[in-house]
Amino acid sequence: MNIQDLLNRDIVCSCGKTHRCDIEVLEIGTNALETLAHATEEYRQVLLVADGNTYPLCGERVKALLGARLGAVCLFEVTDPLVPDESAIARIESQITAETDLILGIGSGVINDLCKYVSFYHGIQSGIIATAPSMDGYASSGAAMILGGMKVTHTTHAPTIIIGDTDILKDAPIRMIRSGYGDIIGKYSSLNDWELAHLIRGEHFCQPIYNLVLETTDGIRDSVDGIVAREPWAIEKLMRALVLIGMTLTLVETTRPGSGSEHHLSHFFEIVGLVHHQKHLSHGTDVAYNTILTAGMREQICRLPPPLFCEESEADRLQAWKRIYASVSDEVEQLQEEAGSYTTDLKPTYTEHWAEIKAILSKCPTAAECNRMMEAAGLHFSECENLYGHDKICDAMLYGKDLKNRYSVLWLYYALFSGQASAVDYRLFDLQ
Ligand SMILES: [Zn+2]
Ligand SMILES: [Zn+2]
Repeated sequence: MNIQDLLNRDIVCSCGKTHRCDIEVLEIGTNALETLAHATEEYRQVLLVADGNTYPLCGERVKALLGARLGAVCLFEVTDPLVPDESAIARIESQITAETDLILGIGSGVINDLCKYVSFYHGIQSGIIATAPSMDGYASSGAAMILGGMKVTHTTHAPTIIIGDTDILKDAPIRMIRSGYGDIIGKYSSLNDWELAHLIRGEHFCQPIYNLVLETTDGIRDSVDGIVAREPWAIEKLMRALVLIGMTLTLVETTRPGSGSEHHLSHFFEIVGLVHHQKHLSHGTDVAYNTILTAGMREQICRLPPPLFCEESEADRLQAWKRIYASVSDEVEQLQEEAGSYTTDLKPTYTEHWAEIKAILSKCPTAAECNRMMEAAGLHFSECENLYGHDKICDAMLYGKDLKNRYSVLWLYYALFSGQASAVDYRLFDLQ
């Protein structure tokens, strides 16, 4: 499937929906940067955004290619990770003029999200020159921001220009390349949750998009050696996969193909880290290890003959929320109250569909298979264990679901095991 075939047209799909994704310019490959002058010729004035890590990579070349269309440069001097917060937003906004009609970022996740966010609220377009194949948000409309000290994802718009020059991408730090790989391999888990949510909650499901994401994920799994060796063909393939998966979220108008329980756990480590001032791993790296965890949880569920529910009491749950979520526990409680998650009893549905549930869960690769895929890229689960520790990981397995109003296998796991503490332990998973 050619990625260009999915752009800028209505796709009447067998799932019953008409899919559409608009991106004016998508150039990935060797020398892709050279297309920038042509890609931006319709714009009056471009505001360029970069930081101390990304500007040196191609900032001067980009300025030359933009020529007279370059308005201002918003350069964050920092080389520490940039935080997409109010002050970063204000700095970009201060350089917008009445003539600015494109905010063009040089960077990856954070810079792209900042450009999407600011351009969206100013009614102009954004574009991105990718500097690392590190995550799948390039083509998506979501912008993950830190506002009021909390992580919030705003639905904005996808960039109209995406340029991924393999000559730049292949020299990205290896941890960022691994992170992109981990984000893609995580799709085995998100696809599985999508199918489960379709069965249990009747969510819309699109088989052609599911198949496309699955094939793409298999292709990245099979290219791991080339990816970690920074072979240009493999880096191009990884970047195409990351952009394609971001596009599928727009096509199906849900984050299901790209985000499930593995992403909910990564959200958990990020938020709990913010609340308690503790470190967390980069997005894709977190997703990689969480994919192993959720695979192990699926296996544990599948070992049960009929479902034997053992759910903790409400009092125990509220106490756990206070302990884990501290200053944001009221928000968690409110979110789940509004979602009605604990007032809808899914146990009869689980019992009725038990055979189908097990059939779906067993489609996901096992924890050992996922672990091998990660090890092949140099991602070792011990990194996750060493940083978070046993208790926090087990907390994530039970309470990571409560930060979202989204169904996933985490809810089924909670209904089955939360009442028996000794059963909730990832060290019981077979990783070899
Ligand atoms: Zn469809
Ligand atoms: Zn992701």
